[in-house]
Formats: sequence, structure tokens, C-alpha cells
Amino acid sequence: MSDTDKELRVSKIRDGTVIDHVTAGQALNVLAILGIDGSGGESVSIGMNVPSDKLGLKDVVKVEGRELSQSEVDVLSLIAPEATINIIRDFDVIEKNRVERTESVTGILVCPNHNCITNADEPVRTAFAVLEDGVRCSYCGTIVRGGDVAEHIDAHGSGETAL
Ligand SMILES: [Zn+2]
Repeated sequence: MSDTDKELRVSKIRDGTVIDHVTAGQALNVLAILGIDGSGGESVSIGMNVPSDKLGLKDVVKVEGRELSQSEVDVLSLIAPEATINIIRDFDVIEKNRVERTESVTGILVCPNHNCITNADEPVRTAFAVLEDGVRCSYCGTIVRGGDVAEHIDAHGSGETAL
């Protein structure tokens, strides 16, 4: 397959962010982390199971006119540890960063414990310590296993609302 064919799979963007080398199958979870469900009018392109020299198969997410917050990058590192984040300005990559594994993540994830203070009607931002294989709620100690993290992404992106 030529490079042109590869490019056509996911069109170029003018200004925004390209999240590349996303673990295959995680693209929709990446959108959930970004709080994007289409209702906000963002222009988004997704490539799923795109051939990759590095990963075999990968997903790619391109979001027009949007950059990622540190919280978003932190949670992204949990579900797509090999991801690279490319900041695009006027069709050029002006910055390229690998996601880094962090020690904690705040916001975005929701604690599965319904009795947790973060699920009460309080303006408490969720916080989780990152473990070897999962995360642990900093408030109630509930552990979410690595493979289950994606199920606990707050669709609204704030990490403040109850399930
Ligand atoms: Zn909790």
C-alpha cells in the first residue's frame, strides 16, 4: 500500500491534534476521554485497525481545533500507553509527544463505588493512583483493573458526575 493510500484513510487536519499509535480498538474510548460524542460539533476523523510497523495494528484519532488537557493525556496513557500526540498548526506537526505513564490521574474517570464521595452530590473531582495493572480511587480505595479502565470513563469528561 502506498503512503497516499494510507493518508486517504484519515484525512489531514489544519489545526488540532492527531493522536497516533493508539492501541487498536481504543479509538472510541479516546473520544470518550476527550468528552467528544459528536454533539459538540467537533470535526473528528478516526482510523481503526490501521496497519502500523510498530504496533501491527493501531487506531488514529484526529480532532480539529482541539488540544488535550494534562488530565486527558494522563487517562489516555492508561488505555493507549504507546500513543503519540501530534499538535497540528496549518497542516504541519509543530509538536510531537509520547504519552507518559503517570502516578495519578484526576477527573475523567468515575469511581465504580456508588458510596464513594466522588459519586455523592459533591463537587469533588475524582482522583486515582496508578497501579501496576489498574488504578485505585484516592478517596475510597476501590481498585479498577487495567482492562476495565475504559468502562469507567465519564462520558461528560469532567469526572464529577455520578454514574
Ligand atoms: Zn472512590
